[in-house]
Amino acid sequence: MEQRGNGNTIELKGMSLEEMEHFVAERGEPTYRGRQLFQWIYGRGARRFKEMTDLPAALRGALTDQASIGGLTSVSQQVSRDGTRKYLLACADGRQIETVLIPDDRRLTACLSIQVGCALACAFCLTGKMGFVRHLQAGEIVDQVLALGRELAPGERIGNLVLMGMGEPLHNYDASVKALTILLHPLGLAYPPRRITLSTVGLVPEIERLGASGLGVNLAVSLHAATDAVRDRLVPINRRYPLKALMDALRAYPLPPRRRLTFEYTLMDGVNDRPEDARELVRLLHGLRFKINLLPLNEAPALPFRRPSRERVEAFQQRLKSAGILATIRESRGWDISAACGMLATEAGQKGLDTDGLLPYYSFRGVEQSGSSLGS
Ligand code: SAH
Repeated sequence: MEQRGNGNTIELKGMSLEEMEHFVAERGEPTYRGRQLFQWIYGRGARRFKEMTDLPAALRGALTDQASIGGLTSVSQQVSRDGTRKYLLACADGRQIETVLIPDDRRLTACLSIQVGCALACAFCLTGKMGFVRHLQAGEIVDQVLALGRELAPGERIGNLVLMGMGEPLHNYDASVKALTILLHPLGLAYPPRRITLSTVGLVPEIERLGASGLGVNLAVSLHAATDAVRDRLVPINRRYPLKALMDALRAYPLPPRRRLTFEYTLMDGVNDRPEDARELVRLLHGLRFKINLLPLNEAPALPFRRPSRERVEAFQQRLKSAGILATIRESRGWDISAACGMLATEAGQKGLDTDGLLPYYSFRGVEQSGSSLGS
């Protein structure tokens, strides 16, 4: 599908290698020119045709007339006390998304957004409260990495990518997979598959498709509960894809050798952090190759849950560890700038504005959309 850039030009950013080859072939050029374009735009982050010095001048001229290289523009940046950086980026249509850079000893991890807002309405997530505005296109997903790359200090590198920002990657399946293909491609951003993690709330048919795609990226699943009774309440999509269906899909998932699934489990006081929750969890996950990240809830006034005490969090972790489970407590990063897990929600979204009247994809949202202040 061709997209129109400014002034009726064709937008190249977001095209796959095959699409770029097709684009040049249609204009009478050899297909390797498509490869060069792909490498310039994604591999080297070029934003102007005149940078592409190994293309003939006539072709550069034709490209300038007929094509464009769009991209996100950086609106603002906030830096957390813990070093986490949150970028507000604007799409060509003015919609805004948030992308987070999380420093770890030596590496930076970029947390990419996949949609403006989210349709899944998890009861403890501020992006969920914002509602669904629109899908991001593949080019807008990839460009978050290129845009952040321009903001780095000398010597810094984005080593890991996590599709864990705003939105649900498997609800925007085609764009996510296309973006991953570009991020993984040796002529594109050339990330090794083990350096990329896609996180999903658990859309079963798309988990199966992703497994069959052979992309080989890591899969994280936002579990948050070990029984349908608790999960139905926290993650409304569980009513469509209950735990049995989810676990069947995960047991069948083709994990690369020496790789594990990751489960995310946001701990909420008295809701899913009780001894019986740990016991059910051990039983549910038995036989899978996995690790589990425990995330003490990031609280916000709009959320009806509380963060458990440190003792309760550690007791929960200990129960899992005693059962031989690799369970880590993930410290919250970027909380003071609302960049932590589940806190990404742009201001327009927080005010409940400007959603184009789009209905969420999933029709049974369990939570009222909140127009109240979200206290960020
Ligand atoms: N939609 C995908 C990608 C988002 S990842 C998914 O659900 O996996 C964001 C992670 O932060 C998810 O695990 C989500 O459940 C978690 N999260 C959401 N709100 C949170 C909160 N208030 N505190 C801690 N974690 C939260």
